[in-house]
Amino acid sequence: MNKPNKIIIHHSLTKDSKTVSWEAIKRYHINNQGYRDIGYHWGIELVKNEYKVFKGREEWEVGAHTRGANTNSIGICLVGNFDNSEPPKEQLYKLIVLIKDIYSRYGELPIYTHNHFASYKSCPGRKFPFNWLLDQIKKSNPNNDFASAINKLVSNKIVNSPDYWLNNENYKSEYVRELIKNIANKLN
Ligand SMILES: [Zn+2]
Repeated sequence: MNKPNKIIIHHSLTKDSKTVSWEAIKRYHINNQGYRDIGYHWGIELVKNEYKVFKGREEWEVGAHTRGANTNSIGICLVGNFDNSEPPKEQLYKLIVLIKDIYSRYGELPIYTHNHFASYKSCPGRKFPFNWLLDQIKKSNPNNDFASAINKLVSNKIVNSPDYWLNNENYKSEYVRELIKNIANKLN
């Protein structure tokens, strides 16, 4: 039985194509690694131009992603290789929404990189903006509904310049117009 007291972030180390990699990772874990299921609890990947959250093991099930921490953590895998380039912002904002969702069940668990527990690995990638992520999570705590709302809009591709909305008091009408058009498109 998994007793989550932390969240651990991974990358898949594979290129994110526009088709579903989650099933391929699952097959690899079962057939090549001998796991009974995919090792992670959650995954985030691009499917037809939109980042989707994929469910792996149940959160109460012990994971198979981080040696020494599988009985007390939730493992999230971002599909992609972030050793050479940063994950796209839409993927990161989807991650923030997912973390908020996990917080609603377990409270504000501390977040770690896989590398923290396995220093010989670069996971979730040398270019992964971990401090930026922690900063965003802090900004979008439950006492900051506005930042949470902006994060949600980014992960749904309604807004692509979160910093503009978060660090600006006097919005320009062209941005507001663009925002309204994006929302209208999503409603179609
Ligand atoms: Zn990892």
